[in-house]
Amino acid sequence: MSSALLRVEGLTAGYGAAPVLHDVNLTVQPGEIVAVLGANGAGKTTLLRTLSGLVRSSRGQVVFDGADLKSTKVERMVRRGIAHVPEGRGVVTELTVDENLRLGGLWRRDQADAKRALDEVYELFPALAQRRASAGHQLSGGERQMLALGRALVGRPRLLLLDEPSLGLAPKITAQIMALLRDLQKNTGLAVLLVEQNVRSALSIADEGVVLALGRVVTRNKASALRDDADLRHAYLGF
Ligand code: ATP
Repeated sequence: MSSALLRVEGLTAGYGAAPVLHDVNLTVQPGEIVAVLGANGAGKTTLLRTLSGLVRSSRGQVVFDGADLKSTKVERMVRRGIAHVPEGRGVVTELTVDENLRLGGLWRRDQADAKRALDEVYELFPALAQRRASAGHQLSGGERQMLALGRALVGRPRLLLLDEPSLGLAPKITAQIMALLRDLQKNTGLAVLLVEQNVRSALSIADEGVVLALGRVVTRNKASALRDDADLRHAYLGF
């Protein structure tokens, strides 16, 4: 489909001689939330790391907004509108909330808009505004996740690669983060490739889901169809 924001075709990638991902195909349309599901070790994190240029692929194509990303450097991907929020969140714990957020806009040519985006992030996350001068290590798990998301949003991405945002968070905070992602999708047209162990949460906001097993896509379908497929849920999703 030529209108896809992200198109991945035949992607094979890994860390050494033996690939972790095998012939992965998927697409993300503009403004679409796609959940990437699967057991521990299925290759979900590796997929996001490959898409953001941290892991090299040995075969296949990654096209973002019409441009081939295979040989593109991480910085250029960020400029094109891909933001990666890694598992563990990547907050700089020695820096304050404000400094962490500013890092998200340092690379931008339009610094006036980076400042506007920063103000918008504080509106979106009032808890971060209150803790603007606190160091990263003083934040709760939920606040750190919001900071990591906020930092990505200061770059005004079109596609967010989001790895396990619910990890270690209370169900109430996870629900808040999921609701926020849906609001961003609705209000700004943000597209999200969402890796989640918390399958129910992910499918509650996703438009589509891709299920990985041993580095291969075993199914892709509407989120509602995946939720209703008991055999698939038992076989791959553990509920
Ligand atoms: P989890 O939910 O546990 O993070 P995952 O689906 O994200 O699982 P990956 O983290 O992508 O899976 O791991 C897929 C495979 O790649 C695993 O077999 C893992 O051992 C291997 N792997 C992950 N990171 C590395 C690395 N840095 N070097 C070598 N192998 C790795």
